[in-house]
Amino acid sequence: MAYLTLQGINKIYPNGFHAVHDFNLEIEQGEFIIFVGPSGCGKSTTLRMIAGLENISKGEFYIDGVRANEKGPREREVAMVFQSYALYPHMSVYDNMAFGLTLQGVDDDIIEQRVMDTARILGLTDYLDRKPRALSGGQRQRVAVGRAIIRKVGIFLMDEPLSNLDAKQRVTMRSEITDIHRKVGATTIYVTHDQTEAMTMADRIVVMKDGYIQQVGTPYELYFKPVNMFVAGFIGEPPMNFITADVQNGAIKVGSTTLALSNVLAADKLATYEGKKIIFGFRPEVIELGAKADSYVLKADVELTELLGDNTNVYVDIEGVKSILKVDPHDTPEMDTNIEFSIPYKSVYLFDGDTEMVIDTNK
Ligand code: ATP
Repeated sequence: MAYLTLQGINKIYPNGFHAVHDFNLEIEQGEFIIFVGPSGCGKSTTLRMIAGLENISKGEFYIDGVRANEKGPREREVAMVFQSYALYPHMSVYDNMAFGLTLQGVDDDIIEQRVMDTARILGLTDYLDRKPRALSGGQRQRVAVGRAIIRKVGIFLMDEPLSNLDAKQRVTMRSEITDIHRKVGATTIYVTHDQTEAMTMADRIVVMKDGYIQQVGTPYELYFKPVNMFVAGFIGEPPMNFITADVQNGAIKVGSTTLALSNVLAADKLATYEGKKIIFGFRPEVIELGAKADSYVLKADVELTELLGDNTNVYVDIEGVKSILKVDPHDTPEMDTNIEFSIPYKSVYLFDGDTEMVIDTNK
C-alpha cells in the first residue's frame, strides 16, 4: 500500500494544450479514489501522469513521501487496468496472469501459488485453461484485473475498466471491484465518466471539468453539499433541476408564481442578490405532489411519464421551465394534465448567477 501526494500538478501537451491545471490532492493509503467528469476534462491525463506514462509539466508528485516525478512506470510500482483489457489472445488465462511475474523471473512455484490465489479471489479458477476469446466480457475484465493485482503492488490504477461491458455486467463488476479492493487493500485510483460508478464505489470522488478540480469529497458530500452548479448537476440521476431568474423584491418569479427567497436565505445575504441573477436548484426526488407546508408550491404541465418500476420520472414544464420530477409509481400523474407540486425549503439549493458557486442557505 502507498499514499500519494499531488501538489500543483499541471499538464501542458507538446502542442501547447493545457489539459490539467493546478491539481492538488492527498490520497491516503488504501483509499479508493475516483476521478469523474465529462469527456476531455483531464481524468486520463492525470492518471497517466501518476502511472509515469506522461511526464508532469509542472508540480510535485510523491509516493510515500518520496518525490516520484522522474521515476519510470516500473519504479513507481503501479499496476494499471485499461478500458481495452489488452489480454494476450494466444495465451491461456493462467499464462495471461502469470506473464508479468515470469518476466520478473519469479520462481514457478511462487507464480503458481499467486495465480491460484488471484483466480480464487476473482472466481476464475475454472477458467484458467481457456483463451480470452472463450470468455465473456466480464470474465475477460476479471483476468485483466487479475493480471494487475497478482503483482502485489501498492498502487492500482484503472481507466474506465467497465466501459466495454453491458449494463448488467457493469453492475456486477462494480461490486466485484469494490470487493477486490477490500480484500487486496491497494491504494486505488479509478477513472470514469459515469457518476453512478463514482457514487457506488469511491471512498472519495474528485470531480473534474476542463482540466480543473471542481470538488473533492465523499459521495455523500458531493450529493448533499455540492460547491457549485456543475457538481450539483453532474452528480445525481436524473440531474438536479435548475431555474434561473432575477431577484426582485427578495423573490424570483417562475411564470405566474412568486417564490420568496427569505424562506431559504438570510435577509442580509438576500439583500446582496437584489437585482441579480440567481439559480434555484432542486433534485427530482425531493418533491411531493400537491401543496405542502414549509415548501415552495409550483404548477406544471405533465409532458411525459416514464415508469421505471421503483419510481416514475415525470417530465414537466413549470410555466416555461423544463424539469424532471421523481414520484412514487402509484402516484404517476396523467400525461397532458396540470399538477401542483411542493419543494421543501430544506431541499432547495441556490447558486450565484455569475459565479455558479453555491450560496449558503438556511439548511
Ligand atoms: P475521456 O473520458 O474522453 O477519456 P478525459 O477526461 O480522460 O476524457 P484526457 O484524455 O485526459 O480526458 O484529455 C484531456 C484533454 O487533453 C482533452 O481535451 C484531450 O483532447 C487533450 N489531449 C489528450 N492527449 C493529448 C495529446 N497527446 N496532445 C494534445 N492534447 C491531448
